[in-house]
Amino acid sequence: MNQFKLPPVTDFHRIHPPQLDPPPRLLLGPGPSNAHPRVLQALGMRQVGHLDPYFLQVMEEIKELLRYAWQTGNSFTIPVSGTGSAAMEAAIANLVEPGDVILVGVNGYFGERLCEMASRYGGDVRRLEKAWGQVFSLTEIQEALETHRPAILALVHAETSTGAAQPLDGVGELCQSYDCLLLVDTVTSLGGVPLFVDAWGIDAAYSGSQKCLSCPPGIAPLTFNDRAMEKVLNRRTKVTSWYLDMTLVGQYWGQERVYHHTAPINMNYALREALRLVAEEGLSERWQRHQNNAELFWMGLADLGLECHVEHQHRLASLTTVRVPKGVDGAKVVRFLRSHYNIEIANGLGPLAGQVWRIGLMGFNSRVENVLLLLSALREALASVR
Ligand SMILES: *Cc1c(COP(=O)(O)O)cnc(C)c1O
Repeated sequence: MNQFKLPPVTDFHRIHPPQLDPPPRLLLGPGPSNAHPRVLQALGMRQVGHLDPYFLQVMEEIKELLRYAWQTGNSFTIPVSGTGSAAMEAAIANLVEPGDVILVGVNGYFGERLCEMASRYGGDVRRLEKAWGQVFSLTEIQEALETHRPAILALVHAETSTGAAQPLDGVGELCQSYDCLLLVDTVTSLGGVPLFVDAWGIDAAYSGSQKCLSCPPGIAPLTFNDRAMEKVLNRRTKVTSWYLDMTLVGQYWGQERVYHHTAPINMNYALREALRLVAEEGLSERWQRHQNNAELFWMGLADLGLECHVEHQHRLASLTTVRVPKGVDGAKVVRFLRSHYNIEIANGLGPLAGQVWRIGLMGFNSRVENVLLLLSALREALASVR
């Protein structure tokens, strides 16, 4: 080495932090939720290369397990490298062409994000709006389709910012009669609440790993049916994001196995384990577990004199918004739960800021003991801040 030619190394940023020792938090907010121990184990397993025959087998298993979790036969069903927002952006970037009319259901934060992304990709964004915590009726959706004649309708199945579950039965048929693609955000519903991609006529859906799948954030499922793929393959213009161009990524996840970017091997191991847990438990059983624990939680809330923001019929089992009682500083309760009980819940967002707490019972965390612990911790917290 020609060291005399190199500038001197500065130790200015050379810190020596201690070994990581994160606090043992119970993550009962809107995400991330705690990963299942078996998922964390899978994350630490030895690596293989991204074109190793062993990894190709892992990829096939992930695609098949994802089809089960989503109840779809879609051949294009893959995990996107990134968090839920990456899969959301992949869906928008590939399905929206400049000038396309895209109708977005905006009844919470993630509807807003869909509008923002769609407009960045040149979409002619039309908003179907409703107060945060409410859902759209089939009639309202039909009227909006009639008015706007969109190429795409985007809805959020499980609005994590409000705790409302958008009914989807019948929406797919409507979209087909208007020759419109149905894109659905299933980030907080996949593996937690009933969801049938094919039976409900959903053309494209995306999700995340960190909510009801109990896998760390960093990998995000995406599925397109043939109608959606036809749109992608017949685009007049290239997808403007190279990284999220599914015509390229699809060649790696399909039979061609063409290198695009290096798949995050260990995140794929983790997702595979998370999906294996879903298949082991069975979807019906898993949905019922989420529902039972949510019902138990809602009953306990009533005993504490607390109210839910969303009416029972449209309440999500995976995420509950609880109204902050008058005279209580919601943020203080959040801090109390964290500092005294190592429990994370979240404050409200946007119009619900200061009005609600967002509490998730997702995947591995949806367990009776967590519900009971949270209820008693909430009782303590309320007594201490009042
Ligand atoms: C969490 C979430 C996202 C975004 O996922 P990230 O992992 O935060 O990128 C999108 N939509 C909904 C409904 C979510 O709850």
